[in-house]
Amino acid sequence: MANPPLYISTRGRTEPVSFEQAVMSGLARDGGLFLPAEIPDARPLMAQWRTRQYADLAFEIYRLFSDLPPDPLRGLATQSVARFTHPEVVSLRPAGPFYLAELFHGPTLAFKDIALQFLGLLFEYYLARRPHRLTVLAATSGDTGSAAVHGLRGRQGLSLFVLYPHGRITRVQELQMITVLDENIHCAAVRGTFDDCQALVKSLFRDLEFRDRHQLGAVNSINWARLMAQIVYYFYAVFRLQAQTGADQVQVAVPTGNFGDIFAGYMASRMGLPIARLILATNENAILARFFATGRYERGPVHATLSPAMDIQAASNFERYLYYLSGERPDRVREWMTAFETTGRLTLEDWITHPDPLWAAGSANRAETLDTMRRLWRTAGIMPDPHTAVGLAVAERFRSDRWPTLVMATAHAAKFPEAVREAIGDDRPARHPTLEALHRLPVRRQVIPADETAIRQWMENPVSPPLTPPEPLP
Ligand SMILES: *Cc1c(COP(=O)(O)O)cnc(C)c1O
Repeated sequence: MANPPLYISTRGRTEPVSFEQAVMSGLARDGGLFLPAEIPDARPLMAQWRTRQYADLAFEIYRLFSDLPPDPLRGLATQSVARFTHPEVVSLRPAGPFYLAELFHGPTLAFKDIALQFLGLLFEYYLARRPHRLTVLAATSGDTGSAAVHGLRGRQGLSLFVLYPHGRITRVQELQMITVLDENIHCAAVRGTFDDCQALVKSLFRDLEFRDRHQLGAVNSINWARLMAQIVYYFYAVFRLQAQTGADQVQVAVPTGNFGDIFAGYMASRMGLPIARLILATNENAILARFFATGRYERGPVHATLSPAMDIQAASNFERYLYYLSGERPDRVREWMTAFETTGRLTLEDWITHPDPLWAAGSANRAETLDTMRRLWRTAGIMPDPHTAVGLAVAERFRSDRWPTLVMATAHAAKFPEAVREAIGDDRPARHPTLEALHRLPVRRQVIPADETAIRQWMENPVSPPLTPPEPLP
């Protein structure tokens, strides 16, 4: 890769930028998403990488994509996993015919911690060298907000504002945010839906005067640094699985919403990691599964499911894959995205005649998800969370004698006790000390109307709501 690496936009209407600019601006000015101008080839390096500890491997991979000097970069890679409770950071666990890559040992018990712990440190590193503060604004339906709060808390030079729909996220998810009392963290329950929260955020980002005055920044998975951090665990888990099974190649199943996690797997495969097949798994919101089966990408209504982090109908990272599918032709990406944005659908004739054999895809409904949770509990004593269960249910259809199957376990079941109770009639198998501790902490709750003026006032003058006593387990 060119040194220092450059980042291009999928829509090709901006000059290439540095890693720092790609990370700090999130979205390209032409509305496209950033990708590395060249994908680094890891094949000559993999023999040395195989036995690395997680943080050392992360450093090696970050080095290929970024422009930080080696010493601080190594420091950030190490510090980014310091709050993980498992000594290996990511653990591998046999589960029936599959292997789970457990990505949920971070502070909020979901895989998003891996990238957001790193992103918080990376922002802090760059901001220490800049004259202004960064104001990060995010809307969340649950997991992203809590992982962002824990990734950015206490980081110098930035403030985080999170909007979530009042009464529409789980108790645990809310407590994970409102028990964090750091001065730079501000969360508000908005009287409205998740769509209202997202519309408010988008509207503030469109106000260029407000955006520039506050130096607004984003932490959602369109940020390249999040994908880069996720590439690491594909290498780590595949190396571990190869060491255990002696396999030359493996297949990987990934529960998918915004196409962020699985796109990191695609990048790892393009870098040379021997992934024979990527199995994309969705819940009833099956827009991506349908694309990989038919070449038609068509938006539908959003269904509320047991796996809410995947209740998405327009996967923001899919554009990155379309860039490669177009033969790296931004003019075609622009055409495709315009068609999708105006009509809600896109048909790729080439995919129908020549699908990429790397991919397999399927969706799992509510009954299949619950059944998978129940069966794994009864047969192996393992309780997957409902997102992971979607991955397992779809992996079941693509079992292979040729390749061992890794399934990305994206959250701990304790985050979703309602689903566990529905599956087996009891949520005791889904407890976790980190979450139980939340019920002993005081909280700072704030409810605001779904009104842009109110949000602006709040952001310009964020008064802390009073501390209230802990909210014990019901
Ligand atoms: C966010 C999330 C997903 C989906 O990840 P994408 O990168 O959006 O595909 C899956 N499982 C859990 C638990 C999540 O929090």
